[in-house]
Amino acid sequence: MTMKQAYEEYLVQHAKVAGGHQFEQEKNYVHPFNIYGPIWYVGDSWVCVHLIDTGDGLLLIDAGNCGTTGMLVNAIWEAGFKPSDVKWIIVSHGHYDHFGAVSFFRRMFGTKIYLGAEDAKMFRERPWLAHIQHSLNACDELFVPDVEINDGDVLKFGNITFKCVNCPGHTDGVTSLFFDVDGSDGVKHIGYYGGFGFNTLQKDFLVEMGDTSYKMRDIYLESLAKVRDEQVDIMLGNHAGNNDTLGRRKQQLENPDGPNPFIEPGYWQKFLDSKRDGLLELMADPKQN
Ligand SMILES: [Zn+2]
Repeated sequence: MTMKQAYEEYLVQHAKVAGGHQFEQEKNYVHPFNIYGPIWYVGDSWVCVHLIDTGDGLLLIDAGNCGTTGMLVNAIWEAGFKPSDVKWIIVSHGHYDHFGAVSFFRRMFGTKIYLGAEDAKMFRERPWLAHIQHSLNACDELFVPDVEINDGDVLKFGNITFKCVNCPGHTDGVTSLFFDVDGSDGVKHIGYYGGFGFNTLQKDFLVEMGDTSYKMRDIYLESLAKVRDEQVDIMLGNHAGNNDTLGRRKQQLENPDGPNPFIEPGYWQKFLDSKRDGLLELMADPKQN
């Protein structure tokens, strides 16, 4: 079955499977916490959501996995904020596990939704790609963003300015973000890479996309190189595993008066290099060629 056929089947099956998926997610609840200055973690144990208090409304980076809207709303309350103050959501890339609560926030609070232009195009032309692989039972909705983000866009929300960089590879429209925030250790440079997974770079996937020369893998490597030299004091994860979000949170709890474990200059380069090496290894695997 092609992914397109699977997606069409999913649309038919959708109502039957949505419920069970939702309950599974609740095991992944993470009590929200402050990362640095105006940045809070309100995601689950797998998919990150960051809340930024811009001084003139709240910004979310991503909107959680499908079926986790209740958890996200609860985490925002628990962190001491009001969900109704969420004015903007930047969606890192167009996969179902990053935009679960987009439609809810827009409908309830008029939240403005931002997405990389290439992934907005993917939603229009090949919507089945938003539900990659085994995730076809996602109880989410596709959306048309209010604003399509292009490479090099500079967006100002409240008193924080975000440099947006298109980093195609995991999807065409991955958006990475660079911005500065002030906190107890002074101004820090924040780096966020909008999607690292190799799942869309596997042979089967690329061949189905018609990418028989595996060009997307080179594009991915170019994207890593494009932002590698950014100065980053704190790397935020797209998934919690990227920067060991929960391990660093554990350190915070164990040593509340110690140095902030999220501040680690050099980690950005180290992690991006590990993704480069991992992809080169995949590319060298005969089974993947
Ligand atoms: Zn993804």
